[in-house]
Amino acid sequence: MCGLFGVYGHPEAANITYLGLHALQHRGQESAGIVCSDGQRLYAHKTMGLVQAGFSSADLAALPGQLAIGHVRYSTAGQSHLRNAQPFAVDYQLGSLALAHNGNLTNHEDLRAQLEQRGSIFQTGADTEAIVHLIAISDKPTLIGRIADALRQVEGAYSLLLMDEQSIVAVRDPHGFRPLCLGVFPDGAYVVASEPVAFDLIGAELLRDIEPGEMVVIDAQGLRSSRPFDSAPRRMCLFEYVYFARPDSTLGGASVYEVRRRCGARLWDEHPIDGATREDTIVVPVPDSGVPASIGLAQHAGLPFEMGLIRSHYVGRTFIEPAQSIRHFGVKLKLNPNRGVLEGKRVLVVDDSIVRGTTSRKLIGMLRGGGAREVHVRIASPPVAWPCFYGIDTPTRSELIASSHTIDEIRRYLAADSVGYLSLDGLTDAVYGIEGRDRELPRDSYCHACFSGEYPVPVRPPHPRQLRLVNA
Ligand code: 5GP
Ligand code: SF4
Ligand code: MG
Repeated sequence: MCGLFGVYGHPEAANITYLGLHALQHRGQESAGIVCSDGQRLYAHKTMGLVQAGFSSADLAALPGQLAIGHVRYSTAGQSHLRNAQPFAVDYQLGSLALAHNGNLTNHEDLRAQLEQRGSIFQTGADTEAIVHLIAISDKPTLIGRIADALRQVEGAYSLLLMDEQSIVAVRDPHGFRPLCLGVFPDGAYVVASEPVAFDLIGAELLRDIEPGEMVVIDAQGLRSSRPFDSAPRRMCLFEYVYFARPDSTLGGASVYEVRRRCGARLWDEHPIDGATREDTIVVPVPDSGVPASIGLAQHAGLPFEMGLIRSHYVGRTFIEPAQSIRHFGVKLKLNPNRGVLEGKRVLVVDDSIVRGTTSRKLIGMLRGGGAREVHVRIASPPVAWPCFYGIDTPTRSELIASSHTIDEIRRYLAADSVGYLSLDGLTDAVYGIEGRDRELPRDSYCHACFSGEYPVPVRPPHPRQLRLVNA
């Protein structure tokens, strides 16, 4: 998972991109980068860590021009190095080019082998670099032609932002796995972002989603849209609604918050608890990801919503663990039970998803330690039993607790009184039930492979390329 932001025709392009990335920080915290153009040359600044920490005012002042693209990268296993930070910026036959990618190419290994066979040399372990090579070796005369030529050879998930000295190009793969949307400033400058929350902060307005298979070019002549690929079934990632996107975003015409609230309400219908009363039962969210679903469940069930777990907002990525090990230290840094509200209660604890189950298990222990009489776990999505090959760094199949455990085994592992997951039908209904979204879409317009194992684009088990070169 990553975040993309781009702007064309704004006098403070780099500053605006900085703010846009800041609003998309939840999509990736490993590295951040901005590339801009003054019309003649590209300028790049990339940093490890958070946007706010990695860009000083001097860094931003050194990024001139009216067009820019930026990227925040999600921390993936290993390969945490500035070399893998995006946007990638290179010189090639037609000038300079920068590219930022959200997604994962499923035929990356084959592409890379073919490119290496014909002499390409790679700087990074990232699949994105293959796209740059395909653009560079294309025989089409224009950048736009070369981008289309390159992307017709790649398979899998990509939302992309590209730029040269004078234009920016936004592309969404034919299935539309990862989101990408288009906005505009009151004065007409265009912006593109993974999620529309980025527009709220900078005062731009959402125009529309960029459609699956659509390529949008923005340059001195304005905005042009084309569809250079064969059409394919729509498969936007359903997990965006469950966890990745910010609740104040609208994706595919549906408010993410509203979808999550409906998931919570439906969860109660599917998994109520007998004899729950307002006096002895409370609904407790796992902050922050479980909050909207908890609100929906509590409202629908008519039960009190209580912050039974309090979150610290100051947990950094690195911390010192005392040598005398404290039990569940990592989770305790982030969450603490709120004894006053938990004491003697039946607790319905609601989270968006369970991946490995390790955090959830600790939280349940924490709730009991805080005085809860019973702990009933409610999860506002179906069991995650399959890895994602479309741009989410989910663990291998064996690490996903739902791939090898029944619901009752999960309940025992978590030490919960009961466990209830939302059905895939329930999740799909929540997405399709939203007022205003395009109800014409067929019901199977979303990817749900991590829940169902039905992969829309064939995948092979990945064997990530280890770079032999060590950058110390
Ligand atoms: P678990 O109990 O599986 O260890 O952790 C569950 C928590 O992981 C949930 O609160 C959920 O919000 C969060 N989660 C779900 N998907 C992802 C993901 O892709 N990355 C991260 N960092 N957390 C996730
Ligand atoms: Fe999204 Fe899951 Fe499909 Fe990956 S497998 S794109 S996380 S729905
Ligand atoms: Mg969470």
